[in-house]
Amino acid sequence: MRLLPFLLVVLAAAAGVQPAQTVLYFGHLWDGTRLLDDVVVTVDQQKIAAIDAGRREMPAGAVDLRGYTAIPGLIDLHTHITYYWDRKPGTRPLGQPRRRPAVTVFLAQDNARRTLETGVTTIRDLGAWGETDYAMRDLVAMGAMIGPRMFVAGQGISAGRGSTPDPAAMAKSAEDRIKAGSDWVKVYGSRGSFDSVETTQTITYDEMKAIVDAAHALGHKVAIHSYGASGVKDAVRAGADSVEHGIELDDETLADMVRRGTVWVPTIDHNRYYVDAKDDYGWKPDAIPPLQDYIAKNLEATRRAVKAGVKIGMGSDAVYSMFGQNTRELEWMVKAGMTPAQALATATTTAAELLDRKDTLGRLAPGFTADIVAVEGKPLENIGDVITGVRWVMKDGLVVVKR
Ligand SMILES: [Zn+2]
Repeated sequence: MRLLPFLLVVLAAAAGVQPAQTVLYFGHLWDGTRLLDDVVVTVDQQKIAAIDAGRREMPAGAVDLRGYTAIPGLIDLHTHITYYWDRKPGTRPLGQPRRRPAVTVFLAQDNARRTLETGVTTIRDLGAWGETDYAMRDLVAMGAMIGPRMFVAGQGISAGRGSTPDPAAMAKSAEDRIKAGSDWVKVYGSRGSFDSVETTQTITYDEMKAIVDAAHALGHKVAIHSYGASGVKDAVRAGADSVEHGIELDDETLADMVRRGTVWVPTIDHNRYYVDAKDDYGWKPDAIPPLQDYIAKNLEATRRAVKAGVKIGMGSDAVYSMFGQNTRELEWMVKAGMTPAQALATATTTAAELLDRKDTLGRLAPGFTADIVAVEGKPLENIGDVITGVRWVMKDGLVVVKR
């Protein structure tokens, strides 16, 4: 077991025990649009009450964070936080013995802690079994479990092998998920996962459209997974709110995304993780070149999407031992041509808008939720500092990570 670099501070697990007001003093603060210097942040309960820049003196009683730059709590738009592996020698992440849902929820707190340590205070969890994601979401919201705020999809919708397309049945599946407790509907529109980069589309345009229409009628959004170009194209045409993964997107699809405001979550880094974790998973050597080839194509498509002006969201697609690496995707965003500020927007303002939380999450401003991350270094100049420099994290006004 690796030694944890951070101490998770369990100052107050239960809601309602935080001090009424906390005053924080930062050397710099990026509010989601601008970088400010010498900033006093007043936090009242779970919210930011005031932000006051240009204060050369630290107010008496303030928490001294002047060596750091504050950024908004980050949002990871694609996780599977209930995919838990205890890293026991001789075992692998896949093929572990089946656990009861309550046991999984308890153990997955470890993934939640590692996620907070990266500065991620909100996740969109896109696929779980046995309602374990609903349970975690509710426990975190109650203050009974320490973890990122969760928007969840429950079990993803997929087509059975060899089944005939059935849009009405797909629409019913979407309605059933929402009734059961899903915030989002997740659709597996193609093959491809783990060591497989197979791009075959498995859900038709008509089925995607039926799912999107059913979910939207109930006021819920849809995320469609597609490894290949045809599935991405159909997902966008069908009105998906976000599309996950994808390569070889044509100009027409990129233009359609821009026109509709579709958010594309390329998840480039998750295949980097699979390559790095090949021994843990026991992939065969011939699984590696296709993963690397997919990474290159995924990055190339993201470069073209950035140029075209597509809205891009940060999603790690973290599973098992990838928790704690949630923000490494940001480095790929910069490689794809973004500035560090644009890369941060993929995990703040753009992500908050996709979650319909643009007035409470993704920015540091009065009235916004007090999710604040203190970063050592110069995050607006070097995105790597966000990945390795998180020193302190506040969520909902409570300190949850402290170096
Ligand atoms: Zn996924």
